[in-house]
Amino acid sequence: MAVNRSPLKRLALTLLEFFLPQLCLFCGAAVGEGAKQAVCPECAGQIQWAASPLCLCCGKVFPSREGEDRLCGSCQKEPPPFSRARAAAIYHGPPAEAIKRFKFNRALAYLPVMQEWLRPLAGEMAAQADLVLPVPLHPRRLQDRGFNQALMLAQGLADLPVERDLLIRVRHTRPQVELNPQERRENVKGAFAVSRPERLKGKRVLLVDDLFTTGATARECARALRKAGARQVEIITVARTKED
Ligand SMILES: [Zn+2]
Ligand SMILES: [Zn+2]
Repeated sequence: MAVNRSPLKRLALTLLEFFLPQLCLFCGAAVGEGAKQAVCPECAGQIQWAASPLCLCCGKVFPSREGEDRLCGSCQKEPPPFSRARAAAIYHGPPAEAIKRFKFNRALAYLPVMQEWLRPLAGEMAAQADLVLPVPLHPRRLQDRGFNQALMLAQGLADLPVERDLLIRVRHTRPQVELNPQERRENVKGAFAVSRPERLKGKRVLLVDDLFTTGATARECARALRKAGARQVEIITVARTKED
């Protein structure tokens, strides 16, 4: 007699998950039963949150821990086309590991952890937005990687519609990581376009990406969105580099 094993298998997996200790995604140490996140206290303690004082516009974290949030020198000199960029953490330790392993090793276990880090910031920023848009990948890169990490981060992050094909990449670009700041700007110049500008007219957009480095990609996306009629563009990332 044929036995349908799948409910049994499911039960066995549930039992295993229940009895096996949950392991920290970063160092493998057992984390407490019923822990909300698979991050042990030691690894959690290594996270450097992107805390004030920071640039009111680009979110750059000032090296001095004194003083108020204010505009940084480069935002004063050349205001970016986005009104605010914010990151949950500094690109260092667990957030840097999570971003790399998720993007390059397809380690999906890191997705809920990164969304958890983003959630407080996302809630605050989504309250001042109408649409959530992921920074798009070029179809060729999407085919290589199999998924857009920004889209996966954006989904379910805030109580707003995620528009996946509104902002598109019209030019295949080299990975920004290989380039210096000047080359990064040129590399992404004209790389983005808006597919249906009528959906964007007068809207406030919250862009989602995994990492903010020099802001070249964020600026270029924001430029395309503003040109297509968006009223405001803000960007949220899991992490940002300390210096730019
Ligand atoms: Zn750990
Ligand atoms: Zn700034």
